Amino acid sequence: MPGDEVLKNYIDGEWRDSSTGGRIEVDDPSTGETIAVVAEASGDDAELAVKAAQRVFRERVLIDMHPYDRGRMLFRIAEALAARGPELAGMLCDDTGKALNVAEAEVETTIKYLRYYGGLADKHEGRSIPRGANLVDYTIRSPFGVSGQIVPWNFPLELTARSLACAIATGNSVVVKSPELAPLSGIAMAKACEEAGVPAGAVNVIAGYGETAGQALIDHPDLRHLVFTGSMTTGQKVLRAAAERIVPCIMELGGKSAAIVHADADLDAVLESVTIGTFMNAGQNCNGLTRLLVDRSIAGELTERLKAHVEGLSVGSGRENCDITPLISNKQRSSVERACHTALEQGAQLISGGSALAYRSGYFMAATVFAEVTSDSDLFHKETFGPVLAVTTFETAKEAVELSNGTDQGLAAGVFTRDLDKALWTADRLWAGHVYVNGWFVSGVETPFGGINKSGYGREKGVEALDGYVQTRNVGIKVTPPR
Ligand code: NAD
Repeated sequence: MPGDEVLKNYIDGEWRDSSTGGRIEVDDPSTGETIAVVAEASGDDAELAVKAAQRVFRERVLIDMHPYDRGRMLFRIAEALAARGPELAGMLCDDTGKALNVAEAEVETTIKYLRYYGGLADKHEGRSIPRGANLVDYTIRSPFGVSGQIVPWNFPLELTARSLACAIATGNSVVVKSPELAPLSGIAMAKACEEAGVPAGAVNVIAGYGETAGQALIDHPDLRHLVFTGSMTTGQKVLRAAAERIVPCIMELGGKSAAIVHADADLDAVLESVTIGTFMNAGQNCNGLTRLLVDRSIAGELTERLKAHVEGLSVGSGRENCDITPLISNKQRSSVERACHTALEQGAQLISGGSALAYRSGYFMAATVFAEVTSDSDLFHKETFGPVLAVTTFETAKEAVELSNGTDQGLAAGVFTRDLDKALWTADRLWAGHVYVNGWFVSGVETPFGGINKSGYGREKGVEALDGYVQTRNVGIKVTPPR
């Protein structure tokens, strides 16, 4: 149990308690024990945060700053975080349950986002448009104003950095709504912003529940831009609110991503990808490898190897750096268990796992593999957000692509083959924002990322992301020639 300290929200450059006195108890998913108490931001706190961000925008504090200086500010935030890298990685283990190596990678990615967009801040230019004699025409890429950023709990530090860095690089001011299940990253980011000398009100970070603080943020009349990263169901709610006031949105939603495994694939590479793609972070990855589409001729061999591989994965807390770490909450684990029961009822064959693990008092779930998963079943279509892999077989390359594209989502997809022609042919036809060939998660902060279909729209990461944080304005000038 922590001391008496209540961690506060960061609004207008000040650390403020909740206006209602509400509290969020933060638990360690590995043990269920309370590790911190955070002031619960109310709707009124969200209002204060938006007002502060709006003032900064109206006074042109960031817009009038040289873009190079906005970039340097992002570098300073990165340095402040880097200075306490190991502490932050430990915090992520305790707050989210993830393994230490995954937490360390998250801290590193967070820093990379800030440096990458810091470097791009003074390179996002408009253009001049030739229009013949006596007309000068150019575009200005202007920020929207207050950017509301709603963050999920699975990668709370790097996802906060991903959107915040783009917004600040382009001159927007920001209100981050941290996830109630993992609010400590938002507080760490706010501290780094304070240390980096970010002007008061330019970045505000509140921790509150979706239905109160989140809803107040998206309903606020001064909100001009919204980045939502989370589930499809909440995303739909958020979009309805945004539609009322025509607020432009970047929607980063869930997925049900499949990897196609051809008969000539390197099966060691497939198993390695399953370890990270399916089971890293207890499978709570939006672009995780959740379906394996396997050539029927090697399905028996691969399933046997999968069973042995999965049963050899280590189980333990984040700090113990194990392969299988706990889910974020008991509720999330129950939801994954229900999905496993439904899979059995719908005829899938359980290869391994399938139920909760009684390990300490944490929210552990066994690494789970189902075979014979049919294309009309829930497990084939619905995001489970847990350590569960669904195996389905195919006969032809064309059928494999149809199965991969056969859900209404499209965040990531992959193909494993040694045949270059087959890989390129398949990559072209996989209807997903991100295609991985012969390895899962082969992407970086510099590669554009986002969904197709119900996985969302807009792009984060890469140079492309900056386009989602500006609106192009045009200036036309009539020139009168001297008499
Ligand atoms: P969630 O939709 O339950 O919550 C996401 C955020 O929305 C939280 O901060 C929550 O407080 C907030 N929220 C809830 N109700 C709200 C409301 N009415 N108004 C405003 N905000 C509200 O999602 P989650 O369970 O935190 O995260 C898991 C989901 O996120 C998965 O579906 C996963 O695929 C997705 N995800 C997507 C990406 C991506 O980049 N595409 C990245 C990570 C996670």
